[in-house]
Amino acid sequence: MKVKAVALFSGGLDSQLSVLMVQEQGVEVVGITFSTPFFTPEAAIKAAEQLELPLEVEDFTQGLMELIKSPVYGHGKNLNPCIDCHALMVKKAGQYMEKIGAQFIITGEVLGERPKSQNYKALEIVARESGYEGLLLRPLSARQLSPTIPEQKGWVDREKLGDIQGRSRKPQMALAKKYELKEYPSPAGGCLLTVEGFSQKLKDLLADNPDPQRLEIELLKVGRHFRLAPGIKLVVGRNHEENNTIESLAQLGDRILKAANIPGPTALYRGEGDYLPTAAALTARYSDAEGESVPVIVTRVGKEGQEEITVKPLEDKKIAVLRIE
Ligand code: SF4
Repeated sequence: MKVKAVALFSGGLDSQLSVLMVQEQGVEVVGITFSTPFFTPEAAIKAAEQLELPLEVEDFTQGLMELIKSPVYGHGKNLNPCIDCHALMVKKAGQYMEKIGAQFIITGEVLGERPKSQNYKALEIVARESGYEGLLLRPLSARQLSPTIPEQKGWVDREKLGDIQGRSRKPQMALAKKYELKEYPSPAGGCLLTVEGFSQKLKDLLADNPDPQRLEIELLKVGRHFRLAPGIKLVVGRNHEENNTIESLAQLGDRILKAANIPGPTALYRGEGDYLPTAAALTARYSDAEGESVPVIVTRVGKEGQEEITVKPLEDKKIAVLRIE
């Protein structure tokens, strides 16, 4: 019977190389990747197609949200709970392994490549917390790490696995050449939780609503965000495309604001309480009004009729206090 492994597959160079390295030893590999509002599976899907790797895509949003709110091993530089996140991904890969009758799990993790989440201790924690400790093989760094069950049982030959460690990408480049890999996404790309501005907006949202819906998270990806008061926020589009997206993400009860008669952004007001004059002044500030008072039209989603508020554009020093970021 052919030995089968599940690869935790991001589509990045390391994950592609780890797949090729064990395939080379005659192991059948199936990939698994995840989808959340913070990163998409597109790169993994594209890379899997190139490698002709069967790929399972699972939604991971709920599990990741819990980890963002209370990570056991803390956040990285921003809201990214990388150690907990990796452990949960490996756990999910392990569950999939059991479901399809595979024998072990592989990841593209490289010892020392990321100082906080891929040092020796972090790799050990990820393996232990996943619940699949002995069955987790990191092919690229295997000879730097303790032998795993797949190596002990001879499912793979440890001597043919990698001994890469550290941040230099040279060994991976050499392997990419050996396996004739031409296309792969950049190593860091992808997860919005590692982006400072996005993390600030998410932190603000979670402080206001600990269980946001997916559409509320999607809204964090567009526009300038302002917290007018607890429970009340304004999102102002920065270009035509964002204006359209903001409008498409408006929910029942939200208000849409636009300056009348002059070019300007679409703004979305969410929440009750009368902060509409401030919201209108903010909307006017990002319109073509040059300091003079302008009428701003307010439409409530799901209700007939409009309201008009004439305001002066809000001063920059007041804007700075309200802006999230
Ligand atoms: S960068 Fe994002 S997806 Fe990757 S481990 Fe960290 S939190 Fe998870």
